[in-house]
Amino acid sequence: MVYQITVEPGKDSNEPSESLYNATTLLKELAIDQNRSNLMIAHANAQRSLELRKTLECIFANTNIAIQVSTPQRQPAPNTRQLKRKDPKEPSTGLVVSCEGKEKTYAELLMDIKNKLQVAGALDKVNSVRKTKAGDLVLSLKEGEMEVKSIITEEIERTNARIVDHRRTILHVKQLDAITTAEELQERLRAETGNEDVTVRSMRPAYGETQSATVEANEATAKHLCKIGRLKVGMVYCFVSRRLDVRRCHRCWSYGHIASNCRGEDRRNKCYNCGHEGHIANACKNPAYCPLCKEDHRAGTGVCRPFGKALRQARNAQP
Ligand SMILES: [Zn+2]
Ligand SMILES: [Zn+2]
Ligand SMILES: [Zn+2]
Repeated sequence: MVYQITVEPGKDSNEPSESLYNATTLLKELAIDQNRSNLMIAHANAQRSLELRKTLECIFANTNIAIQVSTPQRQPAPNTRQLKRKDPKEPSTGLVVSCEGKEKTYAELLMDIKNKLQVAGALDKVNSVRKTKAGDLVLSLKEGEMEVKSIITEEIERTNARIVDHRRTILHVKQLDAITTAEELQERLRAETGNEDVTVRSMRPAYGETQSATVEANEATAKHLCKIGRLKVGMVYCFVSRRLDVRRCHRCWSYGHIASNCRGEDRRNKCYNCGHEGHIANACKNPAYCPLCKEDHRAGTGVCRPFGKALRQARNAQP
C-alpha cells in the first residue's frame, strides 16, 4: 500500500513542523492498525531529512516497527506551500440551514428557527449565527448538532439542514465479533448517525476472537456515537470510545504540550536511545538512557513515568 502525505513546513526552517508531527502520528496509527513490522518512507525534501528522522524516532519510539527512510540526492524543490485551501464560502463547522425555493427571507428563517428552538428548550445550544455568501444561514453550536438539526428539519416546513464539520476525530470500536466486515460496520455507523461522513479506517483482531476497528468521523458525529457508547453491530453489542490522544512534544520529548509551545530543552539533535548528540537511535551503540526520568530506559517507552502520567491525564480528560 502506498500513501502520499504532504507536509506543511514550520514558520521558519528552524521551527519544528506541526504538520510533520501530525502526519507521522497518522502514519504510526496506520502502521499499528495494519500490524506492520516495517515501513519504507520515500522523502522528497532532502533539506528536512534530519527533522523527518528525528520526528519518526520520537513518534515510533514505543513501537517495534522498523523504518527505512530514503531521500533523493537532488532536491526536486516541491512546492509544499501549495496547499489545498478550503472554499472560503464553506464554513468549517456549523449547521447550514437553507429553505427550498427561497420564499423566506433570511430574517424570517432566523425567526422561525429561534421560535422552534425556544419551544424545544434548545436555544442555549446556539453560539452564533451568520449568513453565507450563498444566502444560507449558518448556526454555530456548542453541542447537540444532531438534535438541533432534527428540530429544524422536522418543525420548519421545506427547510434543509446539514452539519458541516471538517474537524476529524478518531474513534475506536471494540468487541466486534470475528466475522463483521469493515463495510458492514461502516454501513451500521452511517445508518446510526444518518451521516455519510463516517469512515472505517481499519479492522484488527483483538482479545478473545473479537475485532477492534479504527473509525474516522467529524467531531459532531463522533460526539453522538460516544454518547450512545454501545452499539449493536450484527449479533453483538460493541463499544465506541474516543482514541486517547497523548500529545507529545518532539522538541523536548515531554508530554502535555506541543513543539510550537515548548519551553523545554531542545533535544531535536539528540539520539532517542541514549540522549547524546551526533547520531540517530538506529545507529546507537550506547545503553538506553531517558533524559526525562534520568533512568536506564529509552525515552517514551512503556516504563517511562511521564508517559504513564500523560496517558492517565488523557483518559481523565475525555469528553
Ligand atoms: Zn517541549
Ligand atoms: Zn545514542
Ligand atoms: Zn523515561
